[in-house]
Amino acid sequence: MLIGQRVLVAGGGVAGYAVARALALRGASVELAEAGAADAAAAAGGGLQITPNGMRVLDALGLGEAARDQGLASQAVVLRDGLLGGVITRLDLGPHRAEGLEYRLFHRADLVALLAEGAREAGVKIRTGAPVEVLSDGAEARARVAGDEVSTPLLLCADGFHSSGRPVLNGPADPFFTGQVAWRAVIPADRAVPSEVQAYLGPGQHLITYPLRGGDLRNIVAVEDRRNWAAEGWNHVDAPQNLRDAFSGFCPEVRALLEQVESPRLWGLFRHEIAARWHGQGLALLGDAAHPTLPFMAQGANMALEDAWVLADCLDAMPQPEALAAYQALRLPRVRRAIAAANANARNYHLRGFARYGAHKVLKIGGWLAPGAALKRFDWLYRHDVTKAQ
Ligand SMILES: Cc1cc2nc3c(=O)[nH]c(=O)nc-3n(C[C@H](O)[C@H](O)[C@H](O)COP(=O)(O)OP(=O)(O)OC[C@H]3O[C@@H](n4cnc5c(N)ncnc54)[C@H](O)[C@@H]3O)c2cc1C
Repeated sequence: MLIGQRVLVAGGGVAGYAVARALALRGASVELAEAGAADAAAAAGGGLQITPNGMRVLDALGLGEAARDQGLASQAVVLRDGLLGGVITRLDLGPHRAEGLEYRLFHRADLVALLAEGAREAGVKIRTGAPVEVLSDGAEARARVAGDEVSTPLLLCADGFHSSGRPVLNGPADPFFTGQVAWRAVIPADRAVPSEVQAYLGPGQHLITYPLRGGDLRNIVAVEDRRNWAAEGWNHVDAPQNLRDAFSGFCPEVRALLEQVESPRLWGLFRHEIAARWHGQGLALLGDAAHPTLPFMAQGANMALEDAWVLADCLDAMPQPEALAAYQALRLPRVRRAIAAANANARNYHLRGFARYGAHKVLKIGGWLAPGAALKRFDWLYRHDVTKAQ
């Protein structure tokens, strides 16, 4: 179905480059327009956890080996009491790894660069510094690319949570502030630390940290409950002392990490409804453009990879109108479930008082009695293989 099919992809992030490569490998003639400058991805710091469901897509795209060179294998997720530092429970990923289920820790810039190179190598024509403004869907979708009007038989919007295509299909979005803000920072690290995700949970706050780039860097995301916030975005620079003050009640290990933070980014977490329409005629949304998620299940990039694969697969298997409808129908239930799990973690990580004490006790005892059970609850997520399941 795709040989010679002209496709324009808006947005060069995880979803955009992944779908561009998937389509080009199947014979489509793909152009991708990214609003940012060529080196913007490299500047966009921060870590991404890619879980087995996302790794399978990287493998199916033929990028698994390159990804393994870049992403650190994660050995465990350790939940800790943020105030005292002690371990609540340790989710050992070893048994999953033995079955070939891999959890990897990436610098976002490395993952995007790897996907971009994969797209280029498959023949995708990439333009940077080229924002896309979607005008309409139709037999030919219309858009302005860097100010020039173009029409195309298929326009795929992978342009993130401020998507230009989403309002064309769904009207204006109405995201709401969740009452939580997050700081994100990357600090130099000691290669000797174990390759584990550490989650420090406190009343109304939590902090997640893990190593990146062979252990030379450490990613930090710190979240706290707060009443008011104005703008949504990932790139508001904050004073490091504000972050240190906010977590001054946390254990010494956390305070020592925060001492090294130099220029944290602060942003307000907003909830967006999943878009009701992911496609019109000749126009479709994928990744955050269709369904932004809170970061508490580490699934936004994984869902973006899955979307890219399924969308390309559907377009390859059937005519475009049916393909776009099948894509949304296949993806919606799974995306909904992953987002609901992230929303639940937003509450569970920040429990206070007796609820917090009780929940930590249950996790601790559960970890002793049935060490694999906590991870097993997420078999539906991590064991799913979109490259086989359609
Ligand atoms: C703190 C934090 C931690 C996270 N941790 C994880 C994690 O561990 N694992 C995980 O899976 N996910 C994680 N996520 C979520 C993940 O980063 C996103 O869900 C994922 O990047 C979405 O991919 P995307 O391609 O849809 O959008 P993006 O990666 O945001 O890419 C969109 C691209 O489109 C470009 N663009 C925007 N507008 C236009 C336009 N009009 N025209 C052209 N280009 C445009 C942007 O410049 C950008 O390059 C995290 C998010 C945050 C905030």
